[in-house]
This record gives sequence, C-alpha cells and structure tokens, in this order.
Amino acid sequence: MVEKHVDVAVIGGGIIGLGIAWEAIRRGHSVALVDPDPATGATQAAAGMIAPASELHYREEHLLELTVDSACRYPEFLSSLAWTGIDPGYRKTGTLVLAIDGADRTALADLRDVQTHHSLSVEQVSLREARRSEPMIGPAATAAFSAPDDHQVDPRKLAAALLAALGERGRLVRARASGLEYDGRRVTGAILEDGSFLPARHTVVANGLAAAQLAGLPCRLPLRPIYGDILRLRVPAALQPLLSHTVRGLVRGTAVYLVPRADGTVVLGATMREDGNSGVSAGGVYQLLRDARQLVPAVAELELEEALCRARPGTPDNAPLLGVVPGADGLIIATGFFRHGVLLTPVAAALCVDLLEGKPCPPGLERYRPDRFEEGQA
Ligand SMILES: Cc1cc2nc3c(=O)[nH]c(=O)nc-3n(C[C@H](O)[C@H](O)[C@H](O)COP(=O)(O)OP(=O)(O)OC[C@H]3O[C@@H](n4cnc5c(N)ncnc54)[C@H](O)[C@@H]3O)c2cc1C
Repeated sequence: MVEKHVDVAVIGGGIIGLGIAWEAIRRGHSVALVDPDPATGATQAAAGMIAPASELHYREEHLLELTVDSACRYPEFLSSLAWTGIDPGYRKTGTLVLAIDGADRTALADLRDVQTHHSLSVEQVSLREARRSEPMIGPAATAAFSAPDDHQVDPRKLAAALLAALGERGRLVRARASGLEYDGRRVTGAILEDGSFLPARHTVVANGLAAAQLAGLPCRLPLRPIYGDILRLRVPAALQPLLSHTVRGLVRGTAVYLVPRADGTVVLGATMREDGNSGVSAGGVYQLLRDARQLVPAVAELELEEALCRARPGTPDNAPLLGVVPGADGLIIATGFFRHGVLLTPVAAALCVDLLEGKPCPPGLERYRPDRFEEGQA
C-alpha cells in the first residue's frame, strides 16, 4: 500500500520528532509523522528542565550555542501552540543548586566560574537567602547557587499539545517505520513495518535510540542507551507548595534534582546508568530518595506516584546527530539528544526545517554532522 505523498515524513514522535513536525506544519508544509506509540520513549520520563546553565558539563561547552538559543526560542515556540488549549506547564521560576560537602561546594564554585565565563547567569547566594525562597531546604545544605534563567516545561503536556496540533493540521500514522526508500541517491520516503510506503519530498529520522536500526541509513548512527530512573511524587496538601523553584544538588558528588509541577507533584530525578537494565533500578530509586532527602528532608513525606525508567539516546561525544548526510538527498537526521532533548526541541525543529527548505546551514552545525563518526571523518 502507498500512503498519500507529503512534503515531510517524520519518523518518530518523541519530543524531537513532534517538534520538527509542528515547525514544518506551521511553515506551511504537509506533514505525516510515523510512530506506533508517540511520546512514550525518553520524552515520557523527562523532567523538562530547560536549563542551559545548570546542565552545563565540562567539555560540552560547545553545546551552549544550541542550548542557550533553544531556551530563548521556548516562549515563541510555546505560544505557537496556545490555540490547542493545552497548558505545557512552562515555568520561569528559576533554579537553585545546593552543595552538601566541601567537595560539592568546590565543584559547584568551579562550575559557576565556567558558567559565568560563558555569560550564563549563575551566582552564589547565602543559605539564608536560599531558604527565604525555599523554606524546605534542609540543614545538610552548605552552599547555594542561583540560576534564574534555568526554567522548566512539562514534557508530557508539551507532547500532548504537539500531538493535538499534529492531529488538527498534519497526520499521525500509527505504525513503526522499518527503513528508508531510495530513488538513486535521493531518499523518497519511509517504509513501514507492514510493507507499506509513505512517500515524501523530505524524510526526517527522529526516532531516538531506535534510529540506528532503520534499514537503508546512509551512515552508522552510534547511539547507546543511557538509562535514567525518575520518580513522580505527590505533595500532600499540608506540605503544599513544597517548592517553587527547581532545586538541584550535588550530594557527595552525585547529582539529583527536584522539579515542582503546578499540579502539586514533584519530579525527582535522575540516575544515569549504562548497565543494560531497562527496568526501574531498586538501587537507583534508593539513591534518588537518599540524596533528595539531603536537599529537602520532607521528600520522605511525599506519596510515591510513579517510578519510571527510560533510555536517553546517547552518542560517543554526548552531542546530537543533527543534519544532512552527503549522498542521501532529501534526508535529515535528528537524534542522539541525550540529556537535552526537551531543551533542544525548538532549535532542533527550526534547524531541521531550515535545512529541508534549503536554507544555509549555520557553520556551527557541522560539528553535529550525523556521519562524523564514520571512518575518515574528522
Ligand atoms: C530520566 C530522564 C530525564 C530527562 N530529563 C530531561 C530534562 O530535564 N531536560 C531535557 O532537555 N531532556 C531530558 N531528558 C532527555 C530527553 O528526554 C531526551 O533527550 C528526549 O526525550 C529525546 O527525544 P527523542 O524524540 O529523540 O526520543 P524519544 O523521546 O525516545 O522518542 C522516540 C520516539 O520514536 C518512536 N519510535 C521508535 N522506533 C520507531 C520506529 N521504528 N518507527 C517509528 N517510531 C519509532 C518511539 O515510539 C518514541 O515515541 C531526560 C531523559 C530521561 C530518561
């Protein structure tokens, strides 16, 4: 069977594929998105921190160009979805980062120097000041840093808004893609698992970790799963509101965060595991609760609503595989977003649609070439 021809076929309906689909739709392209079960991958687990400053890691400074740009694009991107009537839970209340022991303090102070060197707004605040804005911070905290420009969105709600927009103005094909179809060196669409064909002028591979398994890829996509355990906790009425900011911490060298949602829940995350275990790890849950209690002891009084594990799509250099591949016209790859997929959605969507519209690719994008790990590439 041959599906109706579209301008853009997007394989994968996680936050990245949905974001690209919506960007293409709002620029006037006809779009079909293929996913058997949209927004149930890493997107379902994500905390939704839009945090270029507190998510900065050493040797990943080059990502700032994308992360800061994307964070700035968020308000406009979300306002384009306001007509769906779904509130994506965007909050600009800022982030507090706490240290527990001396090594945590030194690490966060060193990081603050790097952050400010890159013009990110991060400053040390007194514990008194931190407790004035977050009275539930516990006695174990020994230093606090404020990152006022690190915000949050609720990825499940954002995905719901994007799906509603797609349902209204595009097409969702509930199927699994198995590969790419070619005419010479041009990709002409997606082959679906039942053998049917979705013809498209442009095809975008955005199915996260599973992208590497598609048949007909023009290059190897070296993706690997980096599992994250994450908890959703309900705050009892007597403790509401538990927090108003995102509270992160370095607890004896291990990172942990608490993200408060408007619905009275708190997201507590997240582990980083490469042990091949895709189920929720008991040790991971223990670690999260143990460390979060150091930041906010009242965490122990919350109701555990959900424990979830999903795999982040990781790459060898922790940077996305984003762009075109020489020798495969009509194809764009957008995967490998690792820890930053939610943060990077608006910029990735804009860049992908720029590329398929033939707009010049910004020079910095070369760094994320999907084929950069092929033999012979620098
Ligand atoms: C615990 C945890 C916390 C996180 N917190 C944050 C955060 O605070 N901020 C942030 O920016 N990022 C965060 N991330 C990272 C973020 O979730 C990912 O980078 C992002 O979800 C990647 O999006 P994606 O669309 O590429 O992949 P996914 O969300 O995994 O979506 C892939 C989609 O492809 C579909 N699919 C798979 N195979 C096929 C196929 N053959 N055909 C069609 N469809 C297919 C799947 O059904 C799925 O819907 C977190 C991740 C985890 C695990």
